[in-house]
Amino acid sequence: METCGRVIINTGNGKGKTTAALGTAFRTLGHGGRVCVIQFLKGQGQYGERVMAGKTENLDWFICGKGFVFKKDNIDEDREVARQGFEIAREKVLSDQYDLIILDEITYLPLYDFLDVTEIVKLIQNKPKRLSLILTGRDAVPELIAVADTVTVMEPLKHAYENGIKAQKGIEF
Ligand code: ATP
Ligand code: MG
Repeated sequence: METCGRVIINTGNGKGKTTAALGTAFRTLGHGGRVCVIQFLKGQGQYGERVMAGKTENLDWFICGKGFVFKKDNIDEDREVARQGFEIAREKVLSDQYDLIILDEITYLPLYDFLDVTEIVKLIQNKPKRLSLILTGRDAVPELIAVADTVTVMEPLKHAYENGIKAQKGIEF
């Protein structure tokens, strides 16, 4: 697939960062492209998208270790898991095997001091030309915004959660 790769960031507090990235994955796959998703935060429960990934050709999916959980007592372990995840990201980006790579929730790595943001910036700058990258997560730091082509801030006006409606299968996970 012939593409000119973009660097896209979906950030902000509103819903839609990860799901918009996955919508783009669907597009790329539809045109015969190859997609890799690397998730830096492992939430609980059975995520529908992960189930679907197992049944989808040309889509590789990595969940970093057991995921970090942000408890003070295992911060070193969380950092290690995050770094291992970033090593997978580096390998996949530089492999030139993909048209789109989604680095889901990667914005938290520099925010939690798990990784210097310059490491991410360097990887973005060294990516193969055809490869598009989508970075998701809240509070993307200015260094990441600076190297992106397209940045969208999801702004929450309302969320069902605020009215006591729990996360719903098929919608939130
Ligand atoms: P989604 O995966 O639905 O696109 P997201 O990637 O924008 O959400 P995250 O912070 O990664 O947002 O979401 C973690 C979980 O919280 C997801 O199940 C998501 O649907 C849900 N969520 C996202 N935004 C909000 C919000 N403003 N209030 C409550 N729950 C939210
Ligand atoms: Mg998300």
